Amino acid sequence: QNALRPKGAGLDKFGDGKSNSSNLRSVAARLEKARESLPIWSKRLDIRYALRVNDILLINGETGSGKSTQVPQYLYKEPWCKREKVKVEVGGKSEEVFVGGMIAITQPRRVAAMTLAQRVAREMGSPLQKGATSGEVGYSVRFESVVPPGTKIKFVTEGMLLQEMLHDPNLRKYSAIIVDEIHERSVDVDLITGFLRTLLHSDKAGRGGVPLKVVVMSATLDLGGIEAFFAKPETIPRYNPGHNHGRVLLRHLKGYELGPGGPKDPRRISEDSFSSWEGFSDDQEDTAKSGSASASRTTAARGADRESDSDIEIDYDNWEDSDDEFEVGKKKNGVAVEYVKGREYEVELFYKATPQSDYMQSMLEQILHLHVQEPLPGDILAFLTGQDEIETLQAELQSQAEKLVKTVPKMKVMPLYGALSAQAQQDVFEKVKEPFTRKIVLATNIAETSVTVSGVRFVVDCGKSKVKQYRVRLGMESLLAKPISRVSAIQRMGRAGREAKGKCFRLYTEDDYLNLDQDELPEILRCDVVEAVLKMKARGIEDVLAFPLMDSPNIPQMEKALVQLHMMGALDDAGKLTDAGRKMAQYPLPAAYGRVLVAAAEISSDVLLDIIDVISCLTTDSEVFLQPKSEEDQETTEESRSDIHGPQGIAGRGGDIVTLLTTMQRFASEKTDRAEWCRKRLVSVRAMKMAMQIRKQLRQLCVQQKLLKELPPPDPLPIGPVTPERAEVLLKAFLKAFAIKTALLGPDGNYVTTQGRNAITIHPSSSLYGQKKFEAIMFLDHVFTAKSYAKKVSPVQANWIEEAFES
Ligand code: ADP
Repeated sequence: QNALRPKGAGLDKFGDGKSNSSNLRSVAARLEKARESLPIWSKRLDIRYALRVNDILLINGETGSGKSTQVPQYLYKEPWCKREKVKVEVGGKSEEVFVGGMIAITQPRRVAAMTLAQRVAREMGSPLQKGATSGEVGYSVRFESVVPPGTKIKFVTEGMLLQEMLHDPNLRKYSAIIVDEIHERSVDVDLITGFLRTLLHSDKAGRGGVPLKVVVMSATLDLGGIEAFFAKPETIPRYNPGHNHGRVLLRHLKGYELGPGGPKDPRRISEDSFSSWEGFSDDQEDTAKSGSASASRTTAARGADRESDSDIEIDYDNWEDSDDEFEVGKKKNGVAVEYVKGREYEVELFYKATPQSDYMQSMLEQILHLHVQEPLPGDILAFLTGQDEIETLQAELQSQAEKLVKTVPKMKVMPLYGALSAQAQQDVFEKVKEPFTRKIVLATNIAETSVTVSGVRFVVDCGKSKVKQYRVRLGMESLLAKPISRVSAIQRMGRAGREAKGKCFRLYTEDDYLNLDQDELPEILRCDVVEAVLKMKARGIEDVLAFPLMDSPNIPQMEKALVQLHMMGALDDAGKLTDAGRKMAQYPLPAAYGRVLVAAAEISSDVLLDIIDVISCLTTDSEVFLQPKSEEDQETTEESRSDIHGPQGIAGRGGDIVTLLTTMQRFASEKTDRAEWCRKRLVSVRAMKMAMQIRKQLRQLCVQQKLLKELPPPDPLPIGPVTPERAEVLLKAFLKAFAIKTALLGPDGNYVTTQGRNAITIHPSSSLYGQKKFEAIMFLDHVFTAKSYAKKVSPVQANWIEEAFES
């Protein structure tokens, strides 16, 4: 089967360096046994059969049972998985196109997509590296894509598949889409299932009638809900047909200039500005009809706004009871379901007798105790909430390990989190080698279902994980460490019993466990839905409120997203996507950054290049600036960063945006030793390398989109301090999207947000921390711990904010 592959196709990343095609084949042959011993192997014929007679298959199987790596391999040679030439109607004309031939498997994380592709490529004896002239396996993740000609199986991130759907709404390249890890219920996966469901129940004219097979895979979820979602096209309730987005926006337009001060004072943007669209009187509606939205902005009175809700047609509470249901399609599709039982051994469970005030300390003690007391072999998997905790504990464990007496065997401490490189993640699959006897894997909830760590007999669970949470009052998202759900706790425990009997130590009490929520809310119900709404709009969904979702956010939240997109200029007054909105959706960036990019492109290519540099640093997986560990370090870091911090910009320091720009440009122009340059300034080399990659990709995209004429040189000449004029243009471009994330200095010397009027403090990670106060600040990020902190902060002027709101 590998006869067509060229000889000496290059190095296999995880191979032994001699990977020509015969070598690749021998690796594959060696792995064949492992494949046959996976629990899913016995189900392979059932899976193939199920998809011959149905278009939809749901597979529920324990983590590690072989779903992600095996299912695509069982399917890619099926008779329905072939490239066909078909006729489709385009604009009244008949056209010949190719449909099918490839299988896409979606993953919530980019590293998972890459490592799975590597693994499957090895199992199939197929080369997988940039420049391979042929191959059967590929991957495509944000800012990186390796898809050799002839690819049959392609691992993609959910975001990338959505991006592909912009250009190819009928997914013509594919014969099947496998949606993996659906239990994680990211916003993107919810959108994907919505689009797939619509496509499945359509007449598939856009695919020349060729069916699309859909496989949905999950480790934990009760599949009942998903089955119903795919099986019953008739029963998605549709609220208020023809819901008029223009009306929602108009009510809003009227609202946000009606604060208590003068009409142009941004300080007047009131707490209610987002909810003020709830009132809408008849005469303003007339204004809406006559299309003069701006007239109502200045004339409407706030009082009227509050009182006149008699004409609200939207009955939010009862919309689900609406009789008005819509049909997506008539054909009833059979939905097949397969359950794959994984290997499970008994796991002994231990709780703490009393609540722990410091779980990091408890975890340290627990791990050391286990390592010293428990027999070998048996690796330890510990669940923490994030990268910083993992790094702290890793350092602590390593220093403690050195103090242990010689007779205690050596342990190897390994971190495992999403932002880690593919190679580093790959290491956790390997057995520990001499002189080590035990590996201690410190992981985020990525190890719960998406990565299988081998050799684990002991699990230590802190009981928390970080989740993205939308804070309605603040109108923004933040990452919060929250107690996990019971489903997660059980899942974590299960990791100890994959290969033999195991033990699980919960660093909380049994009562705490019993008080946990059964399951987590899907992200779409917790998060800002701005991107989701933009993605729907860009894919031609006019009536976003009627889009079929497994769980729909409530209507006020969707409306708020419409309003935010309107404020960014992505939607016009009628709720239709604008040119800027269409462009924003083309970039694999959060909507707000997309907006900033488009705003910059309208000014000049120099500004666009500056903005690309800043956005590249803002969208890396991990932070560009590492935090000094002690106060002493803080001082030396301050000193060594003086060439990137300023003083510059307006009134002293330029703030974090200008700092990122300087960092990127200095890094890119550094010729001697970039790693050393970073080390000195406590800048993350890994983050900067990723930023460089993102920058390259964004520049290419801008050239493709004709926002840039040509690619600039990759390493510019070293730049001097950013001038105040240059900073002003940059910050104003950011304000196009971030005017709602601004705060003004109050008379008491504290900052108060312009939206919501909440007190907010500059976070210690900002270059403006502890510096002189400014008239106003703009922040790109926000965390809420003991108090409300602004991150990624820049000084701005109050009148700029005003201008931004007016434009
Ligand atoms: P599932 O999707 O059901 O969680 P996978 O198909 O991801 O299962 O993994 C099946 C098995 O393949 C795992 O238990 C693991 O042993 C092995 N495996 C998966 N990925 C890798 C890899 N990158 N390197 C080594 N082994 C792997």
